[in-house]
Amino acid sequence: MTGRILVVDAVPTNRIILRVKLSAAFYEVSQAASGHAALNLFRKARPDMVIAAAKLPDMSGRSLIEKVRAVAADPRLPVVLMHDEDDVNERLISLAAGADDVLTKPLDELVMLARLRSLLRARDAEAELQLRDDTRRALGLAEQASDFEMPGRVRLVGTGRAGPLRSLQAALAQRMQDRIEISPMDEALKVAEDAVPDVFVILEGETSVGEGLKLLPQIRANRALRHSALIYVALPDQREEAAAALDMGANDLLASGADPEELSLRLKKQIARKRVNDRLRANMQDGLRAAVCDPLTGLYNRRYALPHLNRMAERALAQGRDYALLLLDLDHFKSINDTYGHAAGDVVLQGVSKRLLDNLRAADLVARYGGEEFLVAMPDTTREQAQRTAERLCRVMEERPILLPGGSAVTVTLSIGVALGRAGQRQDPMELIDGADQALYAAKNKGRNTLVMADTVTALTRRQPGGSDGGFTGLRQIGPEPEPVAWPMSRDVKTGG
Ligand code: GH3
Ligand code: MG
Ligand code: MG
Repeated sequence: MTGRILVVDAVPTNRIILRVKLSAAFYEVSQAASGHAALNLFRKARPDMVIAAAKLPDMSGRSLIEKVRAVAADPRLPVVLMHDEDDVNERLISLAAGADDVLTKPLDELVMLARLRSLLRARDAEAELQLRDDTRRALGLAEQASDFEMPGRVRLVGTGRAGPLRSLQAALAQRMQDRIEISPMDEALKVAEDAVPDVFVILEGETSVGEGLKLLPQIRANRALRHSALIYVALPDQREEAAAALDMGANDLLASGADPEELSLRLKKQIARKRVNDRLRANMQDGLRAAVCDPLTGLYNRRYALPHLNRMAERALAQGRDYALLLLDLDHFKSINDTYGHAAGDVVLQGVSKRLLDNLRAADLVARYGGEEFLVAMPDTTREQAQRTAERLCRVMEERPILLPGGSAVTVTLSIGVALGRAGQRQDPMELIDGADQALYAAKNKGRNTLVMADTVTALTRRQPGGSDGGFTGLRQIGPEPEPVAWPMSRDVKTGG
């Protein structure tokens, strides 16, 4: 079944004709003879679309639109009105009243079915975007939409003489605030990166029938333009093209030429719709970013860092190059919070993040690993380079105090544990993190503001999970006495990089 359609018409033969056509196209049809009957049926039938006669015994089709939308679970539910005659004014009033489209009797089956397919397709695509946005909101990633709207950008594309296109442009400019530009057919896709149209209006010519039709798939396949809305304007004798255009991705159709009033109405709808969809898409990208980034510092979070480390480990293995992992923890950070307040502590965390980013390569990953703990993953890095980098980071922090909003400056220092992923040695990155963590712990015990290489840490200085002082036992010695574990930090340490 392609969808459920509720047909509302007081005349039984009209309902039957429509039901036969729709059933033949595999729609499931339910029927009502009045506005109230339709509203009663609505909940039970759960239609995907409503097609209603413009005149009903108990209300107008236009007021039915409003009532249906009020009870529909989905505000995008398409509602189409059926007019007895092709009267431009009546059509405009119905469109302005919120009809998604207007059909005229006698119904042109070919174009009508294409219109219905297109409406349902648009609704499904938007519902999908909405669903993802809802998920994002459920995850607490929602943002306020801005009320400010820039004017839209409309590009009229036509064949033949420029004169008629210019007058249409002028007529539209009188009716809308948006930017209207014109382009010949063969230059339709030439668009500056910052001037992508919200809507293309493709006007079929008298002589060059089907010329505009060829443009539709080209626009849809174009990376930069594929989210632009498309309105196809056919001439009255081009019904095959009209139906084809809708199936080729046109969002809307004017089937009998470009009446400026009607075009401006349909343009406004398409621009508004595109805005909503653009926002949903942008939100989704923001949502993805929010899911992997720490909001305070803008650094990647742990959720991002761990899979990234796995990939780095695989690449290191494949390329035969060492990589390094640094775990950094601010020294006595609690006392900064206690002395200056939590907000000042936040500023310090931001300052530290910036200093880390400024002093590492673009290829290095910097992540906020926990409250005042950071993780740096460095691809293609030897033990010596890793050690020098850690020294440099300690020195930078010590030498560059962080300015607080109140005007005072604080110097924060770092303790760092450094672990090395060896080329040609398959190793679980989690083990590496564990090693760096042990080394970091040793650095704290060493007196802070220093670094320790993980491969110098032995059981003597190893952190035992669950130990009474947070893990450090310091008593059990397994194996020989180690070499000095820490790299002493002093001003005259030679550093490179
Ligand atoms: P050590 O040298 O042993 O690492 O001492 P420390 O004070 O840095 O470590 P401790 O683990 O005792 O305290 C860490 C503090 O970091 C406690 C916590 O309130 C603070 N903190 C964690 N996340 C944030 C944050 O996002 N903002 C602020 N302002 N403080 C935070
Ligand atoms: Mg700390
Ligand atoms: Mg800590």
